[in-house]
Amino acid sequence: MDNYYLNIESIASLRKILDGEVLLSISRNSEERRRFVEALEIFNISIKSQPAIIIRCESTEDVVKSVKFIKSEDLSCSIRSGGHHFFGASLKDKGVVIDVSNMKKFSFNEQKQTATLQPGCDWHTLETLTHGKYEKRGANDERYGLVATGGDCPTVLNSGYTLGGGYGLSSRSFGLACDNLISAELVLATGEVVQANDKENPDLYWALRGAGGGNFGVVTSLEYQLHLLPKEVLCGYIEWPLSQAEDVMKFYRDMYLNENLPDELSLGMFLGTSPYPEGEPVVNVYGLYTGPADEGKEHVEKFQEFGEPIEDIFGVRPYLDFMTAIGEEIPYGLESKRKGGYFRNDGLSDEAISSIVSHFGKCPSGYSLTRFDLQGGGAIGRVAQDATAFVHRDSLFHISIGSFWQHESEAEENLKWAYEHYQIVSPYLNGHAYQNYADAEITDWSHAYYGQNYPRLQQIKKKYDPENFFEFKQSIRT
Ligand SMILES: Cc1cc2nc3c(=O)[nH]c(=O)nc-3n(C[C@H](O)[C@H](O)[C@H](O)COP(=O)(O)OP(=O)(O)OC[C@H]3O[C@@H](n4cnc5c(N)ncnc54)[C@H](O)[C@@H]3O)c2cc1C
Repeated sequence: MDNYYLNIESIASLRKILDGEVLLSISRNSEERRRFVEALEIFNISIKSQPAIIIRCESTEDVVKSVKFIKSEDLSCSIRSGGHHFFGASLKDKGVVIDVSNMKKFSFNEQKQTATLQPGCDWHTLETLTHGKYEKRGANDERYGLVATGGDCPTVLNSGYTLGGGYGLSSRSFGLACDNLISAELVLATGEVVQANDKENPDLYWALRGAGGGNFGVVTSLEYQLHLLPKEVLCGYIEWPLSQAEDVMKFYRDMYLNENLPDELSLGMFLGTSPYPEGEPVVNVYGLYTGPADEGKEHVEKFQEFGEPIEDIFGVRPYLDFMTAIGEEIPYGLESKRKGGYFRNDGLSDEAISSIVSHFGKCPSGYSLTRFDLQGGGAIGRVAQDATAFVHRDSLFHISIGSFWQHESEAEENLKWAYEHYQIVSPYLNGHAYQNYADAEITDWSHAYYGQNYPRLQQIKKKYDPENFFEFKQSIRT
């Protein structure tokens, strides 16, 4: 690709047959160049990849035509939907980006309680329909809506999220997003459109549930199982000053280690600042109870009565309002570095907690967060490690060190903080890492992301993409 010069004739032919648009980095048209730069925007602005072409697809047919064009021109490609990949695998430097973020159609089957989404669809839009507008009455006339196991970020799109696992606040009750994937349609490197489900191409279906995006083809449609959730849920957050963080974290850990913890309870925790980002350092416990609110109260009250919280907004409120509020907290346009991993089963020790809190106290940026955001156990842990490609089934705790800063001049000290934090916590981790929180610096990534499932993923890659057309740093190798 280094010496590739755009073949203007074949690009013109592609433009004629596509419903979507083709954007060139070197277009003579300034409006097209502006749209190119706009389409290049991704969550982590530290990534500076420069693709040559972005094809904004509108349909499966557009994806087929794009794949055929890229093959015939002998170009390299990447697939992009929401653009949240941590090291930017969705933008291939000097390559062609197959952008599916404009494919936003979705449908909802009330009877089967399923939804079929194109890859450009986000969870919030879906749930506004299935939970906000749809209503079902329970045995005692309680009001329910239907939810997917989506995440809390409104701009993470469903396919990238699901293919790598997908932890949401209701995953302990209903499983990961990949556990709720019933069927997927994808375009292979040959341009062939195939289905993957338990009857058609079951090996591919197995792989899509955890392999991570960009490995086997372009996913153009995904069917999900939805779940009933009360219209109003017990949800919110409680905050304590950093001086109480060690005690709160131990209490939080012990709650998860209690075998009688109901699946319905899902609480995440982070060290951050309040008010965000200019306030004082705090520990925050947030989440929801997916069952009837009065049943969840006894669990949440334990936290409300613990120590001396500085803020407590746990209460019964509409589920969608809570999810919207969480999404609004996420900052955009920042440079970032993420490190992290799953803890050993005995890893979140008192000693580990003490080191984590102490290091967080030295954080140079009010934007940074040390998060315990992937709650394990419940329905996630009841799926066998080899039932899908997603292997991290028995981990209860995960740490995500998110270092964020605004100006390039702040990079050095913030990177130093993130690397030292990771070094401090590493002895307590089990060597596994979440593939949706990809880290380009993990050398043994095949083990870290897939464990014992990697050889089977390699066989499936050989069958469906033998020429390694879908390739990026850390993609599955044949
Ligand atoms: C702010 C933020 C919040 C997050 N919150 C959560 C969370 O709550 N829970 C959680 O589990 N994860 C979370 N993540 C991680 C997120 O799930 C992954 O980064 C996910 O891969 C993002 O998908 P995307 O479509 O937005 O990103 P992209 O960068 O567009 O895609 C991610 C990967 O999937 C590939 N891909 C995208 N679309 C397709 C497709 N249609 N077919 C095949 N391959 C495709 C891309 O090539 C790339 O390799 C979060 C990330 C961020 C930055």
